[in-house]
Amino acid sequence: MRPMQTGYPSFSPPSNDLLDRFEQIVGTPHALRDQEDIRPFLREWRDRFHGQSPMVLRPGSVREITEIMKLANATSTAIVPQGGNTGLVGGQIPSRKGNELLLSLSRLNRILNIDTDSDTITVQAGCTLAYIQEKASSVNRLFPLRLGPDGQSQIGGNLSTNAGGVNALSYGTTRDLTLGLQVVLANGEILDSLRHLRKDNTGYDLKNIFIGSEGTLGIITAAVLKLFSRPRAEETVYIALPDPEAAIGLLHKVKDLFGQSLTSFELLPDIAICFGLRHISGVNFPFLSPSPWYILFDIVSGEDPDLLRTRVAAMLTSFRKTERVHMTAQAETRKQAQSFWQLRTGMSQAQKNEGGSIKHDIALPIGVIPKFLNEAAALVEKNIPGARPVPFGHLGDGNIHYNVSQPPGADISVFLRQREKLNTAIHALVNRHEGSISAEHGIGRAKRGLMKQFRSDVELKLMQQFKNILDPGRILNPGTLLPPAEQEE
Ligand SMILES: Cc1cc2nc3c(=O)[nH]c(=O)nc-3n(C[C@H](O)[C@H](O)[C@H](O)COP(=O)(O)OP(=O)(O)OC[C@H]3O[C@@H](n4cnc5c(N)ncnc54)[C@H](O)[C@@H]3O)c2cc1C
Repeated sequence: MRPMQTGYPSFSPPSNDLLDRFEQIVGTPHALRDQEDIRPFLREWRDRFHGQSPMVLRPGSVREITEIMKLANATSTAIVPQGGNTGLVGGQIPSRKGNELLLSLSRLNRILNIDTDSDTITVQAGCTLAYIQEKASSVNRLFPLRLGPDGQSQIGGNLSTNAGGVNALSYGTTRDLTLGLQVVLANGEILDSLRHLRKDNTGYDLKNIFIGSEGTLGIITAAVLKLFSRPRAEETVYIALPDPEAAIGLLHKVKDLFGQSLTSFELLPDIAICFGLRHISGVNFPFLSPSPWYILFDIVSGEDPDLLRTRVAAMLTSFRKTERVHMTAQAETRKQAQSFWQLRTGMSQAQKNEGGSIKHDIALPIGVIPKFLNEAAALVEKNIPGARPVPFGHLGDGNIHYNVSQPPGADISVFLRQREKLNTAIHALVNRHEGSISAEHGIGRAKRGLMKQFRSDVELKLMQQFKNILDPGRILNPGTLLPPAEQEE
Protein backbone atom coordinates (compact mmCIF):
# COMPACT_ATOMS: atom_id res chain seq x y z
CA MET A 1 0.00 0.00 0.00
CA ARG A 2 1.32 3.50 -0.86
CA PRO A 3 1.98 5.76 2.16
CA MET A 4 -0.63 8.50 2.53
CA GLN A 5 0.34 11.85 1.05
CA THR A 6 0.63 14.53 3.73
CA GLY A 7 3.11 17.05 2.26
CA TYR A 8 2.77 19.55 -0.57
CA PRO A 9 4.45 19.52 -3.98
CA SER A 10 7.19 22.12 -4.28
CA PHE A 11 5.29 24.70 -6.33
CA SER A 12 7.37 26.71 -8.79
CA PRO A 13 6.58 30.39 -9.36
CA PRO A 14 4.11 30.51 -12.28
CA SER A 15 5.68 31.54 -15.60
CA ASN A 16 4.54 34.70 -17.39
CA ASP A 17 2.80 32.56 -20.01
CA LEU A 18 0.82 30.79 -17.31
CA LEU A 19 -0.07 34.10 -15.63
CA ASP A 20 -1.35 35.31 -19.02
CA ARG A 21 -3.64 32.28 -19.22
CA PHE A 22 -5.10 33.04 -15.76
CA GLU A 23 -5.48 36.69 -16.78
CA GLN A 24 -7.48 35.71 -19.86
CA ILE A 25 -10.05 33.96 -17.67
CA VAL A 26 -10.96 37.01 -15.55
CA GLY A 27 -9.96 39.82 -17.93
CA THR A 28 -7.00 42.17 -17.53
CA PRO A 29 -8.66 44.66 -15.12
CA HIS A 30 -9.33 41.83 -12.67
CA ALA A 31 -5.92 40.13 -12.78
CA LEU A 32 -3.69 42.34 -10.65
CA ARG A 33 0.03 42.01 -11.40
CA ASP A 34 1.39 45.36 -10.26
CA GLN A 35 2.88 44.86 -6.78
CA GLU A 36 1.47 48.23 -5.65
CA ASP A 37 -2.07 46.94 -6.41
CA ILE A 38 -1.38 43.55 -4.87
CA ARG A 39 0.19 44.77 -1.61
CA PRO A 40 -3.07 45.37 0.38
CA PHE A 41 -4.04 41.72 -0.18
CA LEU A 42 -0.75 40.44 1.19
CA ARG A 43 -0.88 41.70 4.76
CA GLU A 44 -3.57 41.63 7.41
CA TRP A 45 -4.66 44.49 9.64
CA ARG A 46 -2.37 43.62 12.58
CA ASP A 47 0.62 43.36 10.25
CA ARG A 48 1.49 39.95 11.65
CA PHE A 49 1.32 37.91 8.43
CA HIS A 50 2.98 39.11 5.21
CA GLY A 51 3.08 37.22 1.94
CA GLN A 52 4.16 37.43 -1.69
CA SER A 53 2.22 36.64 -4.83
CA PRO A 54 2.71 37.33 -8.53
CA MET A 55 -1.02 37.79 -9.16
CA VAL A 56 -4.37 38.51 -7.50
CA LEU A 57 -7.33 37.11 -9.42
CA ARG A 58 -10.70 38.78 -8.91
CA PRO A 59 -13.24 36.58 -10.71
CA GLY A 60 -16.76 37.93 -11.29
CA SER A 61 -18.61 34.63 -11.72
CA VAL A 62 -18.71 31.00 -10.63
CA ARG A 63 -17.86 30.01 -14.20
CA GLU A 64 -14.63 32.00 -14.02
CA ILE A 65 -13.73 30.29 -10.75
CA THR A 66 -14.27 26.85 -12.28
CA GLU A 67 -11.97 27.84 -15.18
CA ILE A 68 -9.34 29.12 -12.73
CA MET A 69 -9.43 25.91 -10.70
CA LYS A 70 -9.27 23.68 -13.80
CA LEU A 71 -6.18 25.53 -14.99
CA ALA A 72 -4.61 25.60 -11.51
CA ASN A 73 -5.22 21.86 -11.11
CA ALA A 74 -3.79 21.02 -14.52
CA THR A 75 -0.66 23.15 -13.97
CA SER A 76 -0.13 22.45 -10.25
CA THR A 77 -0.57 26.12 -9.34
CA ALA A 78 -1.27 26.84 -5.68
CA ILE A 79 -4.34 29.01 -4.90
CA VAL A 80 -5.03 30.95 -1.69
CA PRO A 81 -8.67 32.10 -1.36
CA GLN A 82 -9.31 35.41 0.36
CA GLY A 83 -12.55 37.01 1.55
CA GLY A 84 -12.51 40.25 3.56
CA ASN A 85 -8.98 39.66 4.92
CA THR A 86 -10.05 40.00 8.57
CA GLY A 87 -8.95 36.49 9.57
CA LEU A 88 -6.75 36.40 12.66
CA VAL A 89 -4.64 33.30 11.94
CA GLY A 90 -3.13 34.19 8.55
CA GLY A 91 -4.96 31.59 6.40
CA GLN A 92 -5.92 34.25 3.83
CA ILE A 93 -2.33 35.41 3.28
CA PRO A 94 -0.08 33.55 0.80
CA SER A 95 3.36 32.38 1.90
CA ARG A 96 6.47 34.51 1.35
CA LYS A 97 7.71 32.17 -1.38
CA GLY A 98 5.77 34.08 -4.06
CA ASN A 99 4.54 30.90 -5.77
CA GLU A 100 0.82 31.04 -4.84
CA LEU A 101 -1.93 33.00 -6.62
CA LEU A 102 -4.42 34.86 -4.48
CA LEU A 103 -8.08 34.38 -5.37
CA SER A 104 -10.23 37.24 -4.07
CA LEU A 105 -13.97 36.56 -3.78
CA SER A 106 -14.93 40.25 -3.40
CA ARG A 107 -16.64 40.58 -6.80
CA LEU A 108 -19.05 37.72 -6.07
CA ASN A 109 -21.19 40.04 -3.97
CA ARG A 110 -24.82 39.56 -5.00
CA ILE A 111 -27.84 38.48 -2.98
CA LEU A 112 -29.33 35.69 -5.10
CA ASN A 113 -32.66 35.20 -3.34
CA ILE A 114 -34.64 36.08 -0.22
CA ASP A 115 -37.44 33.70 0.70
CA THR A 116 -39.55 34.93 3.60
CA ASP A 117 -41.71 31.78 3.55
CA SER A 118 -38.71 29.53 4.17
CA ASP A 119 -36.94 32.29 6.11
CA THR A 120 -33.78 31.97 4.02
CA ILE A 121 -31.41 34.22 2.17
CA THR A 122 -29.17 32.95 -0.65
CA VAL A 123 -25.98 34.94 -1.01
CA GLN A 124 -22.77 34.89 -2.99
CA ALA A 125 -19.60 34.33 -1.00
CA GLY A 126 -18.22 37.84 -1.38
CA CYS A 127 -21.19 39.58 0.28
CA THR A 128 -20.05 41.32 3.43
CA LEU A 129 -21.69 40.32 6.65
CA ALA A 130 -23.05 43.86 7.13
CA TYR A 131 -24.69 43.76 3.67
CA ILE A 132 -26.45 40.47 4.48
CA GLN A 133 -27.60 41.83 7.86
CA GLU A 134 -28.96 44.93 6.08
CA LYS A 135 -30.77 42.95 3.36
CA ALA A 136 -32.34 40.67 6.00
CA SER A 137 -33.46 43.71 7.94
CA SER A 138 -35.05 45.21 4.79
CA VAL A 139 -37.55 42.30 4.77
CA ASN A 140 -38.08 42.53 8.52
CA ARG A 141 -35.87 39.53 9.33
CA LEU A 142 -32.67 39.05 11.31
CA PHE A 143 -29.42 37.45 10.20
CA PRO A 144 -27.83 37.13 13.62
CA LEU A 145 -24.12 36.54 12.89
CA ARG A 146 -22.23 39.50 14.38
CA LEU A 147 -18.45 39.64 14.75
CA GLY A 148 -16.95 43.12 14.80
CA PRO A 149 -15.45 43.74 11.35
CA ASP A 150 -18.91 43.12 9.81
CA GLY A 151 -18.49 45.74 7.08
CA GLN A 152 -15.36 43.99 5.79
CA SER A 153 -15.52 40.27 6.51
CA GLN A 154 -17.38 38.22 3.89
CA ILE A 155 -19.76 35.34 4.33
CA GLY A 156 -17.39 33.04 2.38
CA GLY A 157 -14.70 33.82 4.97
CA ASN A 158 -17.19 33.42 7.83
CA LEU A 159 -18.18 30.00 6.48
CA SER A 160 -14.59 28.95 5.87
CA THR A 161 -13.65 29.82 9.45
CA ASN A 162 -17.01 28.79 10.97
CA ALA A 163 -17.05 32.19 12.68
CA GLY A 164 -18.76 32.48 16.07
CA GLY A 165 -19.20 36.05 17.28
CA VAL A 166 -21.28 37.59 20.01
CA ASN A 167 -24.66 36.01 19.24
CA ALA A 168 -23.48 32.38 19.04
CA LEU A 169 -24.90 31.76 22.52
CA SER A 170 -28.44 31.86 21.20
CA TYR A 171 -28.16 31.39 17.41
CA GLY A 172 -25.06 29.16 17.10
CA THR A 173 -21.98 29.55 14.90
CA THR A 174 -21.98 30.10 11.12
CA ARG A 175 -22.33 26.33 10.64
CA ASP A 176 -25.63 26.37 12.56
CA LEU A 177 -26.90 29.20 10.37
CA THR A 178 -26.25 27.43 7.06
CA LEU A 179 -28.70 25.26 5.10
CA GLY A 180 -26.96 24.93 1.75
CA LEU A 181 -23.65 25.60 0.05
CA GLN A 182 -22.16 25.94 -3.42
CA VAL A 183 -18.48 25.05 -3.70
CA VAL A 184 -16.06 24.97 -6.62
CA LEU A 185 -13.82 21.95 -6.04
CA ALA A 186 -10.09 21.86 -6.66
CA ASN A 187 -10.63 20.22 -10.07
CA GLY A 188 -13.15 22.88 -11.14
CA GLU A 189 -16.29 20.77 -10.60
CA ILE A 190 -19.19 22.52 -8.88
CA LEU A 191 -20.77 20.98 -5.80
CA ASP A 192 -24.19 22.61 -5.82
CA SER A 193 -26.27 22.02 -2.71
CA LEU A 194 -27.98 25.39 -2.43
CA ARG A 195 -31.00 23.79 -0.74
CA HIS A 196 -33.44 25.62 1.51
CA LEU A 197 -34.47 22.62 3.58
CA ARG A 198 -34.49 22.55 7.37
CA LYS A 199 -34.69 18.76 7.34
CA ASP A 200 -32.73 16.71 4.83
CA ASN A 201 -31.14 13.41 5.81
CA THR A 202 -30.37 12.24 2.28
CA GLY A 203 -26.94 10.77 2.88
CA TYR A 204 -23.82 12.42 4.26
CA ASP A 205 -24.06 16.14 4.98
CA LEU A 206 -21.28 17.22 2.62
CA LYS A 207 -21.54 20.94 3.28
CA ASN A 208 -20.20 20.52 6.79
CA ILE A 209 -16.81 19.29 5.62
CA PHE A 210 -16.28 22.60 3.79
CA ILE A 211 -17.51 24.81 6.64
CA GLY A 212 -14.48 25.53 8.83
CA SER A 213 -12.02 24.11 6.28
CA GLU A 214 -10.27 27.47 5.83
CA GLY A 215 -10.02 27.30 2.05
CA THR A 216 -8.13 23.99 2.02
CA LEU A 217 -10.87 21.82 0.47
CA GLY A 218 -12.76 24.02 -2.00
CA ILE A 219 -13.78 27.56 -2.92
CA ILE A 220 -17.12 28.47 -1.35
CA THR A 221 -19.06 30.53 -3.89
CA ALA A 222 -22.58 30.81 -2.41
CA ALA A 223 -24.69 29.78 0.57
CA VAL A 224 -28.28 29.49 1.76
CA LEU A 225 -28.52 31.01 5.24
CA LYS A 226 -31.24 30.94 7.89
CA LEU A 227 -33.18 34.07 8.74
CA PHE A 228 -34.96 34.75 12.02
CA SER A 229 -37.79 36.95 13.24
CA ARG A 230 -36.60 40.37 14.20
CA PRO A 231 -37.05 40.90 17.92
CA ARG A 232 -39.49 43.66 18.81
CA ALA A 233 -37.67 44.42 22.02
CA GLU A 234 -34.02 44.41 22.98
CA GLU A 235 -32.35 45.32 26.25
CA THR A 236 -28.61 45.78 26.85
CA VAL A 237 -27.14 45.44 30.32
CA TYR A 238 -23.78 46.08 31.99
CA ILE A 239 -23.04 44.63 35.41
CA ALA A 240 -19.93 45.35 37.47
CA LEU A 241 -18.81 42.49 39.67
CA PRO A 242 -15.96 41.27 41.86
CA ASP A 243 -14.85 38.13 40.04
CA PRO A 244 -15.56 35.68 37.16
CA GLU A 245 -17.26 33.24 39.59
CA ALA A 246 -19.95 35.88 40.18
CA ALA A 247 -20.27 36.26 36.38
CA ILE A 248 -20.89 32.53 35.91
CA GLY A 249 -23.49 32.58 38.71
CA LEU A 250 -25.34 35.37 36.89
CA LEU A 251 -25.08 33.60 33.53
CA HIS A 252 -27.19 30.77 34.90
CA LYS A 253 -29.64 33.09 36.67
CA VAL A 254 -30.24 35.12 33.47
CA LYS A 255 -30.56 31.93 31.41
CA ASP A 256 -33.11 30.54 33.87
CA LEU A 257 -35.16 33.71 33.57
CA PHE A 258 -34.85 34.39 29.83
CA GLY A 259 -33.71 31.13 28.16
CA GLN A 260 -32.87 31.53 24.45
CA SER A 261 -33.73 35.23 24.66
CA LEU A 262 -30.29 35.78 26.17
CA THR A 263 -28.34 36.23 22.93
CA SER A 264 -24.90 37.22 24.21
CA PHE A 265 -22.96 37.17 27.47
CA GLU A 266 -19.56 38.84 27.39
CA LEU A 267 -16.93 39.09 30.12
CA LEU A 268 -14.57 42.08 30.37
CA PRO A 269 -11.85 42.81 32.94
CA ASP A 270 -11.31 46.36 34.19
CA ILE A 271 -8.07 46.70 32.18
CA ALA A 272 -10.06 46.14 28.96
CA ILE A 273 -12.46 48.93 29.93
CA CYS A 274 -9.49 51.25 30.67
CA PHE A 275 -8.02 50.46 27.21
CA GLY A 276 -11.39 51.13 25.58
CA LEU A 277 -11.94 54.44 27.37
CA ARG A 278 -8.41 55.52 26.46
CA HIS A 279 -8.52 54.60 22.78
CA ILE A 280 -12.13 54.41 21.47
CA SER A 281 -13.76 57.77 20.92
CA GLY A 282 -17.39 58.43 21.82
CA VAL A 283 -17.97 55.39 24.02
CA ASN A 284 -20.42 55.51 26.86
CA PHE A 285 -19.42 53.67 30.03
CA PRO A 286 -22.13 53.74 32.66
CA PHE A 287 -20.12 53.42 35.90
CA LEU A 288 -18.16 56.16 37.63
CA SER A 289 -16.07 53.94 39.90
CA PRO A 290 -14.05 50.92 38.71
CA SER A 291 -14.75 47.28 39.42
CA PRO A 292 -12.48 44.25 38.75
CA TRP A 293 -14.83 42.62 36.22
CA TYR A 294 -17.87 43.40 34.09
CA ILE A 295 -20.43 41.51 32.05
CA LEU A 296 -22.27 42.89 29.06
CA PHE A 297 -25.28 41.12 27.59
CA ASP A 298 -28.34 41.46 25.37
CA ILE A 299 -31.80 40.05 25.96
CA VAL A 300 -34.24 40.10 23.05
CA SER A 301 -37.90 39.29 22.78
CA GLY A 302 -40.90 39.36 20.47
CA GLU A 303 -43.00 40.84 23.25
CA ASP A 304 -43.98 44.43 23.98
CA PRO A 305 -40.78 46.51 24.53
CA ASP A 306 -42.11 48.09 27.75
CA LEU A 307 -42.80 44.66 29.19
CA LEU A 308 -39.27 43.42 28.51
CA ARG A 309 -37.82 46.63 29.90
CA THR A 310 -39.76 46.18 33.15
CA ARG A 311 -38.81 42.49 33.46
CA VAL A 312 -35.09 43.23 32.96
CA ALA A 313 -35.21 46.15 35.43
CA ALA A 314 -36.86 43.88 38.01
CA MET A 315 -34.15 41.26 37.48
CA LEU A 316 -31.41 43.84 38.04
CA THR A 317 -33.09 45.12 41.23
CA SER A 318 -33.22 41.59 42.53
CA PHE A 319 -29.53 40.96 41.56
CA ARG A 320 -28.44 44.07 43.47
CA LYS A 321 -30.15 42.70 46.57
CA THR A 322 -29.24 39.03 46.40
CA GLU A 323 -26.16 38.51 44.18
CA ARG A 324 -22.51 39.50 44.39
CA VAL A 325 -22.76 42.51 42.08
CA HIS A 326 -21.25 45.98 42.51
CA MET A 327 -23.32 48.04 40.07
CA THR A 328 -25.80 47.49 37.24
CA ALA A 329 -26.80 49.58 34.22
CA GLN A 330 -29.57 49.09 31.67
CA ALA A 331 -29.17 51.04 28.42
CA GLU A 332 -31.82 53.77 28.20
CA THR A 333 -31.85 53.97 24.41
CA ARG A 334 -30.66 51.89 21.44
CA LYS A 335 -28.01 54.55 20.84
CA GLN A 336 -26.69 54.08 24.35
CA ALA A 337 -26.78 50.30 23.89
CA GLN A 338 -24.64 50.64 20.75
CA SER A 339 -22.15 52.73 22.61
CA PHE A 340 -22.01 50.12 25.44
CA TRP A 341 -21.17 47.54 22.76
CA GLN A 342 -18.56 49.76 21.14
CA LEU A 343 -16.33 49.11 24.16
CA ARG A 344 -16.53 45.41 23.46
CA THR A 345 -16.37 45.33 19.66
CA GLY A 346 -13.53 47.87 19.56
CA MET A 347 -11.44 45.86 22.01
CA SER A 348 -8.97 44.42 19.46
CA GLN A 349 -8.29 47.88 18.04
CA ALA A 350 -8.02 49.43 21.52
CA GLN A 351 -5.52 46.77 22.49
CA LYS A 352 -3.46 47.45 19.38
CA ASN A 353 -2.92 50.99 20.66
CA GLU A 354 -1.36 49.57 23.84
CA GLY A 355 1.55 48.05 21.89
CA GLY A 356 2.30 44.38 21.26
CA SER A 357 -0.27 41.75 22.11
CA ILE A 358 0.00 37.96 22.29
CA LYS A 359 -3.37 36.35 21.64
CA HIS A 360 -4.99 33.02 22.47
CA ASP A 361 -8.48 32.19 21.14
CA ILE A 362 -9.48 29.45 23.55
CA ALA A 363 -12.56 27.60 24.75
CA LEU A 364 -12.96 25.91 28.12
CA PRO A 365 -15.70 24.18 30.08
CA ILE A 366 -17.38 27.24 31.63
CA GLY A 367 -16.96 26.06 35.21
CA VAL A 368 -13.15 25.94 35.02
CA ILE A 369 -12.74 29.46 33.61
CA PRO A 370 -12.13 31.23 36.98
CA LYS A 371 -9.42 28.70 37.94
CA PHE A 372 -7.89 28.91 34.47
CA LEU A 373 -7.76 32.73 34.62
CA ASN A 374 -5.84 32.64 37.93
CA GLU A 375 -3.41 29.98 36.73
CA ALA A 376 -2.87 31.69 33.37
CA ALA A 377 -2.15 35.07 35.05
CA ALA A 378 0.56 33.36 37.13
CA LEU A 379 2.05 31.82 33.96
CA VAL A 380 2.11 35.21 32.24
CA GLU A 381 3.92 36.83 35.16
CA LYS A 382 6.41 33.94 35.32
CA ASN A 383 7.16 34.03 31.58
CA ILE A 384 7.00 37.79 30.88
CA PRO A 385 7.06 39.79 34.13
CA GLY A 386 4.98 42.96 33.90
CA ALA A 387 2.94 41.79 30.86
CA ARG A 388 -0.78 42.58 31.20
CA PRO A 389 -3.40 39.84 30.73
CA VAL A 390 -6.56 41.17 29.02
CA PRO A 391 -8.90 38.14 29.00
CA PHE A 392 -12.26 39.02 27.48
CA GLY A 393 -14.92 37.49 25.31
CA HIS A 394 -17.86 35.19 24.96
CA LEU A 395 -18.20 33.77 28.49
CA GLY A 396 -21.61 32.33 27.63
CA ASP A 397 -19.94 30.00 25.08
CA GLY A 398 -16.87 29.33 27.26
CA ASN A 399 -14.80 31.19 24.62
CA ILE A 400 -12.20 33.55 26.07
CA HIS A 401 -9.78 35.69 24.06
CA TYR A 402 -6.83 35.30 26.39
CA ASN A 403 -4.85 38.27 25.12
CA VAL A 404 -1.73 39.56 26.80
CA SER A 405 -0.52 43.13 26.27
CA GLN A 406 3.12 44.08 26.55
CA PRO A 407 4.43 45.67 29.75
CA PRO A 408 3.97 49.46 29.48
CA GLY A 409 6.97 51.04 27.77
CA ALA A 410 8.55 47.67 26.82
CA ASP A 411 10.24 47.14 23.46
CA ILE A 412 7.53 45.60 21.27
CA SER A 413 9.86 43.31 19.32
CA VAL A 414 11.50 41.98 22.50
CA PHE A 415 8.01 41.30 23.88
CA LEU A 416 6.77 39.57 20.71
CA ARG A 417 9.86 37.35 20.57
CA GLN A 418 8.46 35.64 23.65
CA ARG A 419 5.22 34.74 21.88
CA GLU A 420 6.05 31.10 21.33
CA LYS A 421 7.18 30.53 24.91
CA LEU A 422 3.96 32.07 26.28
CA ASN A 423 1.73 30.35 23.69
CA THR A 424 3.21 26.98 24.67
CA ALA A 425 2.59 27.57 28.38
CA ILE A 426 -1.00 28.82 27.89
CA HIS A 427 -1.93 26.08 25.41
CA ALA A 428 -0.59 23.40 27.75
CA LEU A 429 -2.79 24.84 30.50
CA VAL A 430 -5.81 24.85 28.15
CA ASN A 431 -5.08 21.23 27.31
CA ARG A 432 -4.87 20.30 31.00
CA HIS A 433 -8.36 21.74 31.44
CA GLU A 434 -9.63 19.85 28.34
CA GLY A 435 -10.24 23.03 26.36
CA SER A 436 -9.70 24.06 22.74
CA ILE A 437 -6.73 26.08 21.41
CA SER A 438 -8.89 27.43 18.58
CA ALA A 439 -12.42 28.32 19.60
CA GLU A 440 -13.56 30.46 16.67
CA HIS A 441 -10.67 31.92 14.64
CA GLY A 442 -9.40 28.69 13.09
CA ILE A 443 -5.90 27.24 12.69
CA GLY A 444 -4.59 29.09 9.63
CA ARG A 445 -0.83 29.48 9.37
CA ALA A 446 -0.52 30.53 13.00
CA LYS A 447 -1.43 27.26 14.70
CA ARG A 448 -0.87 24.47 12.16
CA GLY A 449 2.29 23.47 14.00
CA LEU A 450 0.10 22.64 17.01
CA MET A 451 -2.27 20.26 15.23
CA LYS A 452 -0.23 17.13 15.99
CA GLN A 453 -0.26 18.03 19.67
CA PHE A 454 -3.98 18.73 19.96
CA ARG A 455 -5.59 16.26 17.52
CA SER A 456 -5.28 12.48 17.69
CA ASP A 457 -3.52 10.39 15.02
CA VAL A 458 -6.88 9.06 13.84
CA GLU A 459 -8.36 12.56 13.53
CA LEU A 460 -5.31 13.79 11.59
CA LYS A 461 -5.34 10.73 9.33
CA LEU A 462 -8.99 11.33 8.43
CA MET A 463 -8.30 15.02 7.76
CA GLN A 464 -5.45 14.10 5.39
CA GLN A 465 -7.69 11.54 3.66
CA PHE A 466 -10.40 14.18 3.09
CA LYS A 467 -7.73 16.51 1.70
CA ASN A 468 -6.45 13.82 -0.65
CA ILE A 469 -9.93 13.02 -1.94
CA LEU A 470 -11.00 16.63 -2.50
CA ASP A 471 -7.68 18.16 -3.51
CA PRO A 472 -5.35 15.36 -4.68
CA GLY A 473 -2.94 17.88 -6.27
CA ARG A 474 -2.87 19.71 -2.90
CA ILE A 475 -3.12 23.10 -4.59
CA LEU A 476 -5.64 24.69 -2.21
CA ASN A 477 -4.21 26.91 0.50
CA PRO A 478 -0.97 25.06 1.21
CA GLY A 479 0.47 26.13 4.55
CA THR A 480 -2.91 26.46 6.24
CA LEU A 481 -4.67 24.25 8.79
CA LEU A 482 -3.08 20.81 8.14
CA PRO A 483 0.12 20.18 10.12
CA PRO A 484 3.41 20.60 8.27
CA ALA A 485 4.74 17.39 6.75
CA GLU A 486 8.06 16.17 8.18
CA GLN A 487 10.15 17.71 5.39
CA GLU A 488 8.59 21.13 6.14
CA GLU A 489 9.26 20.99 9.90
C1 LIG B 1 -11.62 43.20 15.18
C2 LIG B 1 -11.92 41.77 14.84
C3 LIG B 1 -12.87 41.07 15.57
C4 LIG B 1 -13.16 39.75 15.26
N1 LIG B 1 -14.11 39.09 16.00
C5 LIG B 1 -14.41 37.82 15.70
C6 LIG B 1 -15.43 37.12 16.44
O1 LIG B 1 -16.04 37.65 17.36
N2 LIG B 1 -15.68 35.84 16.09
C7 LIG B 1 -15.02 35.21 15.07
O2 LIG B 1 -15.30 34.04 14.80
N3 LIG B 1 -14.07 35.84 14.36
C8 LIG B 1 -13.75 37.12 14.64
N4 LIG B 1 -12.77 37.76 13.93
C9 LIG B 1 -12.03 37.03 12.89
C10 LIG B 1 -12.55 37.18 11.44
O3 LIG B 1 -13.36 38.31 11.29
C11 LIG B 1 -13.29 35.91 11.05
O4 LIG B 1 -12.40 34.83 11.04
C12 LIG B 1 -14.03 36.02 9.70
O5 LIG B 1 -14.90 34.94 9.57
C13 LIG B 1 -13.06 36.04 8.51
O6 LIG B 1 -13.79 36.43 7.36
P1 LIG B 1 -13.05 37.09 6.11
O7 LIG B 1 -14.03 37.27 5.01
O8 LIG B 1 -12.32 38.29 6.51
O9 LIG B 1 -12.05 35.93 5.69
P2 LIG B 1 -10.51 35.99 5.32
O10 LIG B 1 -9.74 36.58 6.43
O11 LIG B 1 -10.31 36.62 3.99
O12 LIG B 1 -10.18 34.42 5.20
C14 LIG B 1 -10.26 33.58 6.32
C15 LIG B 1 -10.03 32.12 5.88
O13 LIG B 1 -11.09 31.69 5.03
C16 LIG B 1 -10.60 31.33 3.72
N5 LIG B 1 -11.59 31.84 2.77
C17 LIG B 1 -12.09 33.10 2.68
N6 LIG B 1 -13.08 33.15 1.77
C18 LIG B 1 -13.19 31.88 1.25
C19 LIG B 1 -14.06 31.28 0.28
N7 LIG B 1 -15.02 31.98 -0.34
N8 LIG B 1 -13.89 29.96 0.03
C20 LIG B 1 -12.94 29.22 0.66
N9 LIG B 1 -12.12 29.74 1.58
C21 LIG B 1 -12.25 31.05 1.88
C22 LIG B 1 -9.23 31.98 3.61
O14 LIG B 1 -8.38 31.27 2.74
C23 LIG B 1 -8.75 31.93 5.06
O15 LIG B 1 -8.21 30.66 5.34
C24 LIG B 1 -12.47 39.10 14.21
C25 LIG B 1 -11.52 39.80 13.46
C26 LIG B 1 -11.25 41.12 13.76
C27 LIG B 1 -10.23 41.85 12.92
